[in-house]
Amino acid sequence: MNEDDGMGGEVGGDAERKMQFLYALRSRGVTDARVLGAMEAIDRGPFIKGLFAARAYDDMPLPIACGQTISQPSVVGLMTQALQLSPRDKVLEIGTGSGYQAAILSKLVRRVYTIDRHRRLVQEAREIFEAMNLSNITAITGDGSFGLAEQAPFDRIIVTAAAEDPPGPLLTQLKVGGIMVLPVGQSDAVQRLIRVRKTEDGLEYDEMRAVRFVPLLEGLGKDS
Ligand code: SAH
Repeated sequence: MNEDDGMGGEVGGDAERKMQFLYALRSRGVTDARVLGAMEAIDRGPFIKGLFAARAYDDMPLPIACGQTISQPSVVGLMTQALQLSPRDKVLEIGTGSGYQAAILSKLVRRVYTIDRHRRLVQEAREIFEAMNLSNITAITGDGSFGLAEQAPFDRIIVTAAAEDPPGPLLTQLKVGGIMVLPVGQSDAVQRLIRVRKTEDGLEYDEMRAVRFVPLLEGLGKDS
């Protein structure tokens, strides 16, 4: 597909676009070869519908249905990298959104559970997972701040909506030796990406970069 990018410049072909996409990830600190491989394998295009589809390969967050956003690819890469995934892991994601982050995870681990409070987003994400043959993802409509007790404990947990503090049930459902990555802070302020490690002795926190995510809200979305 060769088309004008609307900014006065020509966008190259698919191969060049992919190179630029991967280059942007690397230059923003996504260096893990497995993570880059998964991000090369999963096309971001199908996760973005309508007006913004042409921007799918730019390193920027974009609007999706239900007033939500698909995260910036470099942030997806950095969060995925920070999880230090191994192929046998069982992972829980809170905030399915478009399904893009879950699709990346599905290439790197054994099993992915992803929860969103908007039924419509869960349904649309499921359709994409099916079309892409990603059969190790279970997408569920619900309030993810309570986690998914019936599948706990999880090796890794990722939250892609901002809470003021890590939700207690998620800390409980994380395995000892497990890692959770999430943005914390108030929704209208700059948030911090943090990594929590659960050890025999308790929780260890380390801070990563500043980010801006939509808020983690209570209950189900209006459409659900
Ligand atoms: N990971 C997504 C982006 C998520 S945007 C992607 O790759 O596209 C954040 C999502 O979190 C939104 O879809 C929003 O509906 C969802 N969300 C907010 N609060 C939630 C909650 N309590 N439980 C589940 N999902 C929630």
